[in-house]
Amino acid sequence: MLNKIHILGTGSKGNCYILHFDNGQIQLESGLKNENLKDVNYLLISHLHEDHFPMVSYKKYKGHYLKTFFPSIEKFQNIYENKKLENCFISMFNVPHIVPNVGFHINFENENILYITDCGDILSLIDTLKNITCKLTYLIIEVNYDSFQIKGSQFFHKDYVVSNLGHSSNVDVLKFLSEINLPRTCKILFIHRSENHTNSKTYTIFDILPYNWIVAKNKKTIYCKPWEEI
Ligand SMILES: [Zn+2]
Ligand SMILES: [Zn+2]
Repeated sequence: MLNKIHILGTGSKGNCYILHFDNGQIQLESGLKNENLKDVNYLLISHLHEDHFPMVSYKKYKGHYLKTFFPSIEKFQNIYENKKLENCFISMFNVPHIVPNVGFHINFENENILYITDCGDILSLIDTLKNITCKLTYLIIEVNYDSFQIKGSQFFHKDYVVSNLGHSSNVDVLKFLSEINLPRTCKILFIHRSENHTNSKTYTIFDILPYNWIVAKNKKTIYCKPWEEI
Protein backbone atom coordinates (compact mmCIF):
# COMPACT_ATOMS: atom_id res chain seq x y z
CA MET A 1 0.00 0.00 0.00
CA LEU A 2 1.12 3.57 -0.66
CA ASN A 3 1.13 5.39 2.68
CA LYS A 4 2.42 8.86 1.95
CA ILE A 5 4.10 11.07 -0.64
CA HIS A 6 6.81 13.36 0.63
CA ILE A 7 7.26 16.41 -1.61
CA LEU A 8 10.73 17.87 -1.31
CA GLY A 9 9.99 20.20 -4.19
CA THR A 10 7.59 20.75 -7.06
CA GLY A 11 7.86 23.18 -9.98
CA SER A 12 10.59 24.81 -12.03
CA LYS A 13 12.85 25.34 -8.98
CA GLY A 14 13.16 21.61 -8.43
CA ASN A 15 11.09 18.43 -8.40
CA CYS A 16 11.45 15.55 -5.98
CA TYR A 17 8.66 13.26 -4.76
CA ILE A 18 9.22 10.27 -2.48
CA LEU A 19 6.58 7.55 -2.49
CA HIS A 20 6.52 5.64 0.81
CA PHE A 21 5.07 2.13 0.54
CA ASP A 22 4.69 -0.50 3.29
CA ASN A 23 7.91 -2.18 2.17
CA GLY A 24 9.92 0.31 0.16
CA GLN A 25 10.44 3.76 -1.24
CA ILE A 26 10.40 5.02 -4.80
CA GLN A 27 11.71 8.50 -5.57
CA LEU A 28 10.49 10.45 -8.57
CA GLU A 29 13.02 13.00 -9.83
CA SER A 30 16.11 14.36 -8.17
CA GLY A 31 15.76 18.10 -8.65
CA LEU A 32 16.42 18.60 -4.94
CA LYS A 33 18.73 16.64 -2.73
CA ASN A 34 17.16 13.88 -0.66
CA GLU A 35 19.38 13.47 2.43
CA ASN A 36 17.94 9.97 2.89
CA LEU A 37 18.54 8.76 -0.64
CA LYS A 38 20.13 5.57 0.66
CA ASP A 39 16.66 4.50 1.91
CA VAL A 40 15.22 4.78 -1.59
CA ASN A 41 14.86 1.53 -3.53
CA TYR A 42 14.40 3.06 -6.95
CA LEU A 43 15.08 6.51 -8.33
CA LEU A 44 13.12 7.42 -11.44
CA ILE A 45 14.11 10.41 -13.58
CA SER A 46 11.79 11.63 -16.34
CA HIS A 47 14.28 13.79 -18.25
CA LEU A 48 17.50 15.76 -18.04
CA HIS A 49 16.19 19.22 -17.23
CA GLU A 50 17.77 21.01 -14.29
CA ASP A 51 14.59 20.97 -12.20
CA HIS A 52 14.43 17.15 -12.47
CA PHE A 53 18.05 16.10 -12.51
CA PRO A 54 20.59 18.93 -12.15
CA MET A 55 24.14 18.30 -13.30
CA VAL A 56 25.39 19.92 -10.11
CA SER A 57 23.74 17.23 -7.99
CA TYR A 58 25.03 14.54 -10.32
CA LYS A 59 28.55 15.75 -9.58
CA LYS A 60 27.79 15.98 -5.87
CA TYR A 61 26.29 12.50 -5.77
CA LYS A 62 28.91 10.92 -7.99
CA GLY A 63 31.48 10.14 -5.31
CA HIS A 64 28.87 9.07 -2.77
CA TYR A 65 25.99 6.69 -2.47
CA LEU A 66 24.81 7.01 -6.05
CA LYS A 67 28.02 5.82 -7.62
CA THR A 68 26.83 2.23 -7.80
CA PHE A 69 23.80 3.07 -9.85
CA PHE A 70 24.90 6.08 -11.86
CA PRO A 71 27.20 4.51 -14.44
CA SER A 72 27.71 7.63 -16.53
CA ILE A 73 25.74 10.62 -17.61
CA GLU A 74 26.46 9.80 -21.24
CA LYS A 75 24.55 6.55 -20.85
CA PHE A 76 21.63 8.16 -19.11
CA GLN A 77 19.10 5.75 -17.68
CA ASN A 78 15.70 6.70 -16.36
CA ILE A 79 15.46 4.05 -13.64
CA TYR A 80 18.16 3.49 -11.01
CA GLU A 81 17.98 0.52 -8.71
CA ASN A 82 19.50 0.71 -5.26
CA LYS A 83 17.75 -2.15 -3.43
CA LYS A 84 15.47 -4.41 -5.44
CA LEU A 85 11.73 -4.50 -4.65
CA GLU A 86 10.03 -7.86 -5.18
CA ASN A 87 6.90 -7.77 -7.33
CA CYS A 88 7.37 -4.15 -8.31
CA PHE A 89 6.76 -3.44 -11.98
CA ILE A 90 7.72 -0.13 -13.55
CA SER A 91 7.11 0.73 -17.17
CA MET A 92 7.89 3.88 -19.15
CA PHE A 93 6.24 5.66 -22.02
CA ASN A 94 7.30 8.66 -24.10
CA VAL A 95 6.02 12.06 -23.06
CA PRO A 96 6.20 14.96 -25.57
CA HIS A 97 8.61 17.65 -24.37
CA ILE A 98 11.48 19.75 -25.77
CA VAL A 99 13.98 17.03 -24.72
CA PRO A 100 13.50 13.21 -24.50
CA ASN A 101 11.09 12.65 -21.60
CA VAL A 102 9.26 9.67 -20.13
CA GLY A 103 6.33 9.01 -17.82
CA PHE A 104 6.14 6.08 -15.42
CA HIS A 105 3.56 3.47 -14.54
CA ILE A 106 4.32 1.87 -11.18
CA ASN A 107 2.57 -1.32 -10.13
CA PHE A 108 3.51 -2.25 -6.55
CA GLU A 109 1.66 -3.41 -3.40
CA ASN A 110 -1.74 -3.37 -5.15
CA GLU A 111 -1.28 0.22 -6.31
CA ASN A 112 -1.30 1.44 -9.88
CA ILE A 113 0.38 4.82 -10.02
CA LEU A 114 0.81 6.93 -13.13
CA TYR A 115 3.31 9.81 -13.23
CA ILE A 116 3.32 12.35 -16.06
CA THR A 117 5.16 15.66 -16.03
CA ASP A 118 6.52 18.30 -18.41
CA CYS A 119 4.08 17.23 -21.09
CA GLY A 120 3.46 19.45 -24.09
CA ASP A 121 0.54 17.52 -25.54
CA ILE A 122 -1.22 15.51 -22.87
CA LEU A 123 -4.17 14.68 -25.15
CA SER A 124 -1.85 12.74 -27.49
CA LEU A 125 -1.27 10.22 -24.68
CA ILE A 126 -4.91 9.18 -24.24
CA ASP A 127 -4.75 6.19 -26.59
CA THR A 128 -1.37 4.98 -25.31
CA LEU A 129 -2.54 5.08 -21.70
CA LYS A 130 -6.14 3.89 -21.92
CA ASN A 131 -5.35 0.37 -20.68
CA ILE A 132 -3.55 1.83 -17.66
CA THR A 133 -5.77 4.79 -16.70
CA CYS A 134 -8.83 2.56 -16.18
CA LYS A 135 -7.19 0.82 -13.22
CA LEU A 136 -5.27 3.62 -11.53
CA THR A 137 -5.24 4.15 -7.78
CA TYR A 138 -3.12 7.34 -8.01
CA LEU A 139 -2.44 9.85 -10.76
CA ILE A 140 0.45 12.28 -10.35
CA ILE A 141 0.21 14.78 -13.16
CA GLU A 142 1.58 18.17 -14.14
CA VAL A 143 -0.73 21.15 -14.24
CA ASN A 144 1.76 23.87 -15.05
CA TYR A 145 -0.14 26.97 -16.05
CA ASP A 146 -3.48 28.61 -16.38
CA SER A 147 -4.19 29.10 -20.10
CA PHE A 148 -5.92 32.43 -19.45
CA GLN A 149 -3.22 33.73 -17.14
CA ILE A 150 -0.26 32.94 -19.45
CA LYS A 151 -1.90 34.43 -22.55
CA GLY A 152 -1.80 37.90 -21.03
CA SER A 153 1.72 37.58 -19.62
CA GLN A 154 4.98 39.00 -20.99
CA PHE A 155 6.86 35.79 -20.20
CA PHE A 156 9.81 35.35 -22.59
CA HIS A 157 9.38 31.57 -22.99
CA LYS A 158 5.61 31.73 -23.26
CA ASP A 159 5.42 30.31 -26.81
CA TYR A 160 7.52 27.29 -25.84
CA VAL A 161 5.57 26.60 -22.63
CA VAL A 162 2.21 26.51 -24.42
CA SER A 163 3.56 24.54 -27.42
CA ASN A 164 3.19 20.79 -28.03
CA LEU A 165 6.72 20.35 -26.65
CA GLY A 166 6.16 22.51 -23.56
CA HIS A 167 3.98 22.00 -20.52
CA SER A 168 0.40 21.07 -19.58
CA SER A 169 -2.23 23.69 -18.84
CA ASN A 170 -5.17 23.31 -16.50
CA VAL A 171 -7.54 23.23 -19.48
CA ASP A 172 -5.49 20.48 -21.23
CA VAL A 173 -5.51 18.37 -18.07
CA LEU A 174 -9.22 18.90 -17.52
CA LYS A 175 -9.86 17.63 -21.08
CA PHE A 176 -7.50 14.69 -20.51
CA LEU A 177 -9.27 13.73 -17.27
CA SER A 178 -12.68 13.92 -18.89
CA GLU A 179 -11.61 11.66 -21.76
CA ILE A 180 -9.80 8.91 -19.90
CA ASN A 181 -11.66 6.24 -18.03
CA LEU A 182 -10.31 6.99 -14.56
CA PRO A 183 -11.90 5.09 -11.63
CA ARG A 184 -13.79 7.38 -9.22
CA THR A 185 -11.61 6.09 -6.40
CA CYS A 186 -8.40 7.32 -8.05
CA LYS A 187 -6.64 10.06 -6.08
CA ILE A 188 -4.94 12.84 -8.02
CA LEU A 189 -1.88 14.90 -7.14
CA PHE A 190 -1.35 17.96 -9.33
CA ILE A 191 2.33 18.88 -9.57
CA HIS A 192 4.80 21.32 -11.18
CA ARG A 193 2.52 24.34 -10.81
CA SER A 194 3.99 27.60 -12.07
CA GLU A 195 3.79 30.34 -9.45
CA ASN A 196 3.75 33.07 -12.07
CA HIS A 197 1.25 31.58 -14.46
CA THR A 198 -1.47 30.41 -12.15
CA ASN A 199 -3.57 32.27 -9.65
CA SER A 200 -5.42 31.13 -6.58
CA LYS A 201 -8.59 30.50 -8.58
CA THR A 202 -6.89 28.36 -11.23
CA TYR A 203 -7.72 25.01 -9.74
CA THR A 204 -11.39 25.68 -9.11
CA ILE A 205 -12.03 24.41 -12.64
CA PHE A 206 -11.25 20.96 -11.24
CA ASP A 207 -14.09 21.23 -8.73
CA ILE A 208 -16.40 19.69 -11.31
CA LEU A 209 -14.35 16.48 -11.30
CA PRO A 210 -15.60 13.56 -9.20
CA TYR A 211 -12.11 12.90 -7.82
CA ASN A 212 -10.18 13.61 -4.67
CA TRP A 213 -7.34 15.92 -5.70
CA ILE A 214 -4.58 17.92 -4.06
CA VAL A 215 -2.22 20.55 -5.49
CA ALA A 216 1.38 19.69 -4.49
CA LYS A 217 3.35 22.26 -2.50
CA ASN A 218 7.02 22.34 -1.57
CA LYS A 219 8.07 20.56 1.61
CA LYS A 220 4.68 19.01 2.34
CA THR A 221 3.67 15.44 3.00
CA ILE A 222 0.51 13.99 1.53
CA TYR A 223 -1.04 11.18 3.56
CA CYS A 224 -2.87 8.70 1.39
CA LYS A 225 -5.59 7.48 3.75
CA PRO A 226 -7.37 9.83 4.04
CA TRP A 227 -5.98 11.83 1.12
CA GLU A 228 -4.77 14.97 2.89
CA GLU A 229 -1.85 17.34 3.05
CA ILE A 230 0.03 17.95 6.29
ZN1 LIG B 1 10.16 20.53 -15.18
ZN1 LIG C 1 11.36 19.83 -18.57
